[in-house]
Amino acid sequence: MTKLGNDFENFKTWDKENYFHPWEGLKVQGAGKADRTFSEYAEGIYVYDEHGNKVIDGPGGMWCMQLGYGNAEIADAMAAQARKMAYCSPFSEATSVSAEFAHAIAERAPGDLNRVYFTTGGSTAVDTAIRFVHFRNNLLGKPAKKRIITRAHAYHGGTYLTASLSGKPSERQWFDTDQVLPHFLPDVNAFRRPAGMSIEAFLDEKVADLENAILELGADNAAAFIAEPVLGSGGVIVPPAGYHKRCLEVCRKHDVLYISDEVVTGFGRLGHWFASEELFGITPDIITCAKGLTSGYAPMGAAIFSDRLFKDIEGDVSKDVYFTSGYTYSGHPVCAAAGLKNIEIFERDGILEHVRKVTPHFQKRLHQMLELPLIVDVRGMGLVGCIECSLTREGQASAGIDATIGAVIDARCQELGLMVRPYGNMAIFSPPLVITEAQIDDMFDMLTEGVQRATRELL
Ligand code: PLP
Repeated sequence: MTKLGNDFENFKTWDKENYFHPWEGLKVQGAGKADRTFSEYAEGIYVYDEHGNKVIDGPGGMWCMQLGYGNAEIADAMAAQARKMAYCSPFSEATSVSAEFAHAIAERAPGDLNRVYFTTGGSTAVDTAIRFVHFRNNLLGKPAKKRIITRAHAYHGGTYLTASLSGKPSERQWFDTDQVLPHFLPDVNAFRRPAGMSIEAFLDEKVADLENAILELGADNAAAFIAEPVLGSGGVIVPPAGYHKRCLEVCRKHDVLYISDEVVTGFGRLGHWFASEELFGITPDIITCAKGLTSGYAPMGAAIFSDRLFKDIEGDVSKDVYFTSGYTYSGHPVCAAAGLKNIEIFERDGILEHVRKVTPHFQKRLHQMLELPLIVDVRGMGLVGCIECSLTREGQASAGIDATIGAVIDARCQELGLMVRPYGNMAIFSPPLVITEAQIDDMFDMLTEGVQRATRELL
């Protein structure tokens, strides 16, 4: 057995040889050869890398570090819970911290979404939501009503089921996914709408896409529509005003359930506990969330179901029936303790109000980026932003040659002390929600300089 030492080079070697990372790129370095930068310490919005550089965490971890790093109160709450009761089987037992957290989430969820099913993260939350929809329709004697309508460029997770519902082309090509269950709607990105088409006409077309899909599949087969309020990792696509409301109306008309995937948008990212109701005026049937649920301090997700759905499956219909899906770590007490403390801090420190207060400044600085020649579109809402770049200024058609611009921008920004999340010809950022206006300025100043350096290098 290898003896643990503190020689840093050992860790680098073990990282390459033993740690199979998600999204491991095989093309450039070969499997397990990526030279990753290590970080051992972080505080607030800053990560300190192995070279001692202080870097603003532009992506906020993986869109999850709402309260930033080094929050001693959450760490203490988790430690106390681990000492008191580290684990409790969600299958056969109950414990107060998990029940209290379920209640706290239900109190903040829209409408009658009161049934909180805990999972281990976002993928398992969406997976559970879909399995519940199928389960319910089986109980209601509608075994054919199973198809799930999803959207191009959506991301719903990394399990077989949720990857099958995800529409980011770059992530689908080397895997097998279910070809029967999903039905993909075309791109909802207004930036890519045909030249001369108004936003209103584009909106009409997108809503018609959904209705036509339901008609094509048949309402007896179409079970649910799943959508991120703001489509996140697929390029921060903000829908035209009224989109979700009209889609919900279409769903209701045809008895199709509406699943709002708030894994990114939930827990403060857009200035509210959930974006569905407050920003988009809808009460969906199911909401999925994760990430900000514990501010990234513990792995946890939740699928929140409406009381209406539960009524459907109560009584005679569910005699001797079990919802036989679950996880050893559902409702884990240590994660629940992190989540409860997270909510307490959000409310005590006015985090949602803070996000709403700094959002106009963040979005103003984001939209000013459009003045840079490399940038062809900027999109964002709340504390989420994305710049889309093109070398040809014909952004619509140049995806191939522009595919690595995001990575170049990230590299140049990192030299200046800012991390961004590259995605093809885009760079995405979703900083910790505790970011101040002065730090937002630092971030966009570095981003501007990073884009300028990338432009000089690329053009
Ligand atoms: N749904 C959305 C909208 C996401 O953005 C993500 C992850 O980024 C997921 C689901 C999957 O969450 P997780 O990585 O926690 O499994």
